[in-house]
Amino acid sequence: MARVYFLLGGNLDDREKILSEAISKMKLEVGELIRVSSIYETEPWGFEHESNFLNQVVVLESKLSAAKILDRTQQIEKDLGRVRKNNQYSERTIDIDILFYDNLVISTDRLMIPHPRIQERAFALVPLLDVASDLIHPVEMRSIKELYANCPDRMDVKKFKQ
Ligand code: AMP
Repeated sequence: MARVYFLLGGNLDDREKILSEAISKMKLEVGELIRVSSIYETEPWGFEHESNFLNQVVVLESKLSAAKILDRTQQIEKDLGRVRKNNQYSERTIDIDILFYDNLVISTDRLMIPHPRIQERAFALVPLLDVASDLIHPVEMRSIKELYANCPDRMDVKKFKQ
């Protein structure tokens, strides 16, 4: 069994309901739910849009490979009505990123684990602090707490719901 950390985010429709639907589907399709962070609200990163994002970290135990998990989470994104656009940063119903898969390091065209921008993004680090503040990033070789203390991103990440 692998312990897998995900970052969920979305800024369209009923954001809270979609997060909870995504988690329900992940429990069915990916593995056993171990922990969830509080839900946080952040402004869109890298583009202008009137609605803020909700973000939440989810921890599952799974017997699936990382590639298989990505297949399943991409299907869940589709099922929940995500509209993919050409530009990288766009509004979306739900985005599911795999942050960590145990302490595995994967770098292929399709999959980078740990997710390459964790250490630069307060909206990933703040919810991670809730569930895994002492987890050591297997590439940076520092804990989430240390990465957050050194993170240059000072964007406001507000608690939306405990
Ligand atoms: P995004 O638009 O941010 O959801 O990026 C989706 C793309 O990122 C997909 O084509 C994935 O194959 C790729 N990708 C690479 N590493 C990861 C990861 N750790 N988690 C989720 N998607 C990933």
